[in-house]
Amino acid sequence: MRILLAEDEQTISDHVRNHLEHDGYRVTVCQDGREAWETGGTEDFDAIVLDLGLPSLDGLTLLRLWRSEGVHTPVLVLTARGSWMERVDGFDSGADDYLPKPFRIEELKARLRALLRRTRPASVETFRVAGNRLLIRPDVREVVLDGETLSLTPSEYRAILCLAEAGSRPVNSWEIAERALDRNDDKAKNAAEVLINRLRRKLGDGILVNRRGYGYLLSGD
Ligand code: CA
Repeated sequence: MRILLAEDEQTISDHVRNHLEHDGYRVTVCQDGREAWETGGTEDFDAIVLDLGLPSLDGLTLLRLWRSEGVHTPVLVLTARGSWMERVDGFDSGADDYLPKPFRIEELKARLRALLRRTRPASVETFRVAGNRLLIRPDVREVVLDGETLSLTPSEYRAILCLAEAGSRPVNSWEIAERALDRNDDKAKNAAEVLINRLRRKLGDGILVNRRGYGYLLSGD
């Protein structure tokens, strides 16, 4: 899932980007208003996190421009001043949610997930494995095991999604290397196996199964 993060304060943008990337989002950072406007208007994002105080073009103007140009990407607005007027302005300009600074990263992530849940088409499939013990929700990039959200690295997430999409078809190490690690060099197969072993430990027994000679699959039983 792709996120555009328009934030000019380096410490905040680094902090937010690190956390979102750790959760498996792909993050593009713009520290300048005009650059953010062009990027948000020309590339496809699932959501935008927008700081209102940006150099060269302020966030509210930029948001109005996007909306008038038909850019309907959901926007979570950040601002240093949590004033009521700004909140109203933000919603009037087309913001979908609003978070005053300073914020806790957990709240930003929760709001972003809620925003994506609200705005993504409900038709995005949730994969259910092992009698609903394991849920893989591509709409919010969430993997839940026995009711607990798993903390997965981006490559672990891509690997589990690749297995979920394959269903009962075993996926071999090469395919996992390509899909999850974007690798097809000599050592890609080994790297995929290391990744799979790590994922198996996180999933516990019996969920990620090795069909010798064919590959890996998520077991339905
Ligand atoms: Ca700012």
